[in-house]
Amino acid sequence: MKISIEKLREISSYLKESNCSRKAAATKFGVTQASLLYWAEVHHVALPKRLVARELLQRDYTADTIREVQVKDLVKQYGLPNKSINTALQQLSWEVATSTSIRCYTTKDISQTILDDVIANGGNVVQSIKRLQLHANPSTVRRLAEKQGIDLNLYRMQRQRFGLWEILPGKPEQCYVADQRVKAFCHGCGTIHSVLMCNLRSGKSTRCSSCANKARVTQPVTCIETGEIFRSIRQLVNTVPYLPGYHTLRSQLKKGPVSINQLTYQLVA
Ligand SMILES: [Zn+2]
Repeated sequence: MKISIEKLREISSYLKESNCSRKAAATKFGVTQASLLYWAEVHHVALPKRLVARELLQRDYTADTIREVQVKDLVKQYGLPNKSINTALQQLSWEVATSTSIRCYTTKDISQTILDDVIANGGNVVQSIKRLQLHANPSTVRRLAEKQGIDLNLYRMQRQRFGLWEILPGKPEQCYVADQRVKAFCHGCGTIHSVLMCNLRSGKSTRCSSCANKARVTQPVTCIETGEIFRSIRQLVNTVPYLPGYHTLRSQLKKGPVSINQLTYQLVA
């Protein structure tokens, strides 16, 4: 069955407009698919191939313009089921939220939101994704950070609280073999210090030394035999010779009365 060049051109533009299959177009124009293909070849008339949802979206939209439409509009525009549109959007990394009533969000938007959250609140990418209750691939966010020259390690410990300390953003400074020094803000007095991570983690340091001194409760000590009262352990150590060091004496006194040189000292309850 011969098909004229005019008819072929007509079929060609129909294919382009309707995005239907060649078979469907052949049926519509009352020809067989085989003769359509044959005569199109003879007359060098291009028969546009049916585009899949992904190709249609790519043809008509960009990552920027897709944000302006809703999924349900795309369903109407292409006469395709919701599922194909969503799948195509995912293939293009253009979609995360699948609701038909909300706008299409690109993966880049989501990644940027997560990245901004890590920078603002500290922690790592996975924690941010959980905090924001988003569906995202952590490595996509890490790649975006890398692309923007952001070192996520700087934010890993940021904002963590250890007593009155709050860790500030900044690259931890490696020191000794397995420890790091971080910049931390003391909420007791508002000063910034460089603190060892191991002291924070172990609970040895909970505030700056000046706040720690202020907070130290002095406990009086009494000598049972003489009845003498010392204002504090420090004062006792400074007054009486031949006593053990401050820290040793303090831990001994905490356990109970301590006998030194025939004299017994104990903390005043
Ligand atoms: Zn302080």
